[in-house]
Amino acid sequence: MRAQPKASHYIGGAYVESPDGHPFPSIYPATGEAIASLFGADETTINDAVQSAVEGQKVWAATPPVERGRVLLKAAAILRERNRELSELETLDTGKPLQETLIADAASGADCMEYYGGLAATLTGEHIALGDSFAYTKREPLGVCVGIGAWNYPIQIACWKAAPALVCGNAMVFKPSEVTPLSALKLAEILTEAGLPNGVFNVVQGYGDVGAQLVAHPDVAKVSLTGSVDTGAKVAALAGEHLKKTTMELGGKSPLIIFDDADIDNAVSAAINANFYSTGQICSNGTRVFVHSKIKDAFLARLAERTANAVLGDPMDEATSIGPLVSKSQFEKVLGYMALGTQEGARLVCGGDKADVASMPEGFFVQPTVFADVKDKMRIAREEIFGPVMCVLDFEDEADVIERANDTTLGLAAGVFTKDIQRAHRVIDQLQAGTCWINTYNLTPVEMPFGGYKKSGIGRENGHAAIEYYSQIKSVYVEMGGVEAAF
Ligand code: NAD
Repeated sequence: MRAQPKASHYIGGAYVESPDGHPFPSIYPATGEAIASLFGADETTINDAVQSAVEGQKVWAATPPVERGRVLLKAAAILRERNRELSELETLDTGKPLQETLIADAASGADCMEYYGGLAATLTGEHIALGDSFAYTKREPLGVCVGIGAWNYPIQIACWKAAPALVCGNAMVFKPSEVTPLSALKLAEILTEAGLPNGVFNVVQGYGDVGAQLVAHPDVAKVSLTGSVDTGAKVAALAGEHLKKTTMELGGKSPLIIFDDADIDNAVSAAINANFYSTGQICSNGTRVFVHSKIKDAFLARLAERTANAVLGDPMDEATSIGPLVSKSQFEKVLGYMALGTQEGARLVCGGDKADVASMPEGFFVQPTVFADVKDKMRIAREEIFGPVMCVLDFEDEADVIERANDTTLGLAAGVFTKDIQRAHRVIDQLQAGTCWINTYNLTPVEMPFGGYKKSGIGRENGHAAIEYYSQIKSVYVEMGGVEAAF
């Protein structure tokens, strides 16, 4: 098979197989062909991975932070050197066009390794003066952290979890999505090559049951999940039962608000990036595009014109800008929402069906789709579709659009387009979302904390903020005088 790994899991610095585990394939979404065949972890493999992490963490926690940083910096360099090879693998596993994976996947993982590698030596505590005595704080690791990934950005998600966890002195057991199991294994190899001690980063494969066993494992201190809201609720409940720390990066139905003074071409570019990049399979997508009624017709006309330029086809061809959806079930789900939009009375501006790519008849391709005249109560405007389906809604009044934008249980991201600087900040200030953009959309540099309000998540990834979620503070009071007691 085209992308068969040496074995399914990576534990203690080596590939490990579990032939008694649940077998599953990795499918290339452009052709439907199996590119690898793996086994889910059985109980022994899960225990071995956690045990290996326990041992590795002892060595790693005793490694000076600056040295930990050097390992991450070396990993960043290797990720960049192998960017093409890693991007091709990611394209095979996810179906995302190479045009994207070459710049947005392993490359952003490298940025993340570099950022936390650079931060390593700066992670200090504080000194607190208390008169004659004093206190100090130390930032200590949590222990073994479990990372559980979604399928849309497999190596990026693995890096976004591993880098801050490792820089703080933790070990990690990472379980990729069963839909995209391959690139995390390559990351594990690269970390070993960069000098990471054995056992500090391990990969085990499997479905949700393997994830749940990792979460419940008594030697695991923390779990960081990227996934859907439903899975987040289950994982957070299980972690809560064991009083484990959590980071939850979950779904969204985010608003992108375009005022009548916006630059229309820039706003159209942002709406395209917010809905069609990665074939719409991005958690922070601005899928509810609120457009001021004064510019709605001009916006929709330009959007339809530009969308007609999308190049659907072979993801390995660098000219392709839209690849297939990740799986057959995602394909069916998205087609279902496309049909629902019309049934609910939205006006189809373009797309709305599967797409025929002659050279790849078995691929899970759909057309980039725009619905206009969408109403707030429609299901297409309330439920996360996770495909290239844009809902355009009209508005006239600032206060009203803010209220409508916030009328959701989710709060991952939001964007505003206007040339009025005060309005931009005033509106952003009132939007209930963890990651916001003014006059752009969906840029997520590692320097900027990322995460959701409301049901979109708990905690933050990236930036200095992530350090808070992978470390704990020890406060130490130092008595410089005598000790008084009541008797
Ligand atoms: P999913 O929830 O189906 O699966 C996510 C991961 O959780 C997979 O690895 C899966 O095996 C595992 N899992 C499932 N059930 C589990 C359980 N009971 N216990 C432990 N682990 C379990 O999500 P998906 O379909 O892979 O990804 C799409 C979803 O992820 C979308 O909702 C999207 O918005 C969200 N997402 C969020 C972010 C973010 O950063 N906020 C990023 C990407 C994707």
